Amino acid sequence: MAEIKLSEMRDLTRIERIGAHSHIRGLGLDSVLEPRVSSEGMVGQTSARKAAGVIVKMVQEGKIAGRAVLLAGQPGTGKTAIAMGMAKSLGQETPFAMLAGSELFSLEMSKTEALMQAFRKAIGVRIKEETEVIEGEVVEIQIDRPAVAGAASKTGKLTLKTTEMETVYDLGGKMIEALGKEKVQSGDVIAIDKASGKITKLGRSFSRSRDYDAMGPQTKFVQCPDGELQKRKEVVHCVTLHEIDVINSRTQGFLALFTGDTGEIRAEVREQIDTKVAEWREEGKAEIVPGVLFIDEVHMLDIECFSFLNRALENDMAPILVVATNRGITTIRGTNYKSPHGIPIDFLDRLLIISTQPYTEEEIRKILDIRCQEEDVEMSEDAKVLLTKIGTDTSLRYAINLITSASLACQKRKGKIVEMEDISRVYQLFYDVKRSTQYLMEYQSQYMF
Ligand code: ATP
Repeated sequence: MAEIKLSEMRDLTRIERIGAHSHIRGLGLDSVLEPRVSSEGMVGQTSARKAAGVIVKMVQEGKIAGRAVLLAGQPGTGKTAIAMGMAKSLGQETPFAMLAGSELFSLEMSKTEALMQAFRKAIGVRIKEETEVIEGEVVEIQIDRPAVAGAASKTGKLTLKTTEMETVYDLGGKMIEALGKEKVQSGDVIAIDKASGKITKLGRSFSRSRDYDAMGPQTKFVQCPDGELQKRKEVVHCVTLHEIDVINSRTQGFLALFTGDTGEIRAEVREQIDTKVAEWREEGKAEIVPGVLFIDEVHMLDIECFSFLNRALENDMAPILVVATNRGITTIRGTNYKSPHGIPIDFLDRLLIISTQPYTEEEIRKILDIRCQEEDVEMSEDAKVLLTKIGTDTSLRYAINLITSASLACQKRKGKIVEMEDISRVYQLFYDVKRSTQYLMEYQSQYMF
């Protein structure tokens, strides 16, 4: 590996989807770290959030090297949500990696390799690069319609012209994709990163009405207000060490990042990358952004994993390790000893322990409100009251899951607002743990042992 590949990293676009925790945007604390009742998607759980805020502060002040946090509490009490809130409050580009203890034993790689990959997914590298940027006002964009209809946004050729300098920029198919997403119109003043084809809108110069349509061949011009066409600008990419590993591992291509099928990465690849990153840091070209690694079901880890974690935390690039469990005193996997949460005493000693508490009815109602907004689901007051009741009797997570299915039931009857009938329909359709257990007990004899 002569040169660490960076070009492909620019192509990594992060996909944001509506996930179980996509409503969490921080810890919801004020400037003196006091938790607001409901803020940044977070509700209740005030003492745990406050404690998490103190840890974030310690991390920001560089005071928490080699330490880790344990979130202990019942299922569905927001342990994952708090870990994610910590990552978000460290900054939008702070990497957050998540792993469930049980996954380590089902992956097609050794446990320590899986842990190593998880660690490196939680370490960000902010790389500064000089790149050529064209700035100007959009006057003409010319697109060659590709042979395959409908593929314009991917394979078309794009030429940008400037009236003043008669320069033609052929920026390739990448550019068209970027333009399509940005909806550039004539009269916009834009900056184009020539290396990645990324377009940033800087503002509007004067109004022209023709909208840009990425699918059709049409003509507009790029004219630079000051005649200066190209500038060298510093651009910053943020990638994770794991992404650099995968891109540079000879057996895997960068597509493996999307399939997750990265296989084991050789130790020498990592060593070379670490050396290169250290060089970049010295030259001022890169900075390390320690992220948050969240390991759920930590009681599922065995003694070998714990000794790996002990060592990994000594590294100066180590992310904050947040582990969670809902177990009490239990056996440490791989030994005959019992300990609190199934965690060896030497590792427990490193941990700052935060406990989470069950939610009140009012808090459940607020979280459900936030999730309805997040999922764009309109729900009647009656339905919300019923869903809150279900959440209190079963679990918060079960009630959250019913939002999506109730909204589908509502669509099916061509309704606009989710009503009580939709909630009761899906409540009957999908069992919560309590009812499912009861069913199992009643019909136990008919199951295989
Ligand atoms: P488990 O022990 O089963 O892993 P957990 O304690 O990690 O559970 P979460 O997955 O964080 O629980 O919570 C369940 C759901 O409720 C998630 O969608 C989470 O985002 C949401 N949630 C939990 N607590 C809060 C909170 N305080 N504010 C807003 N949303 C929350």
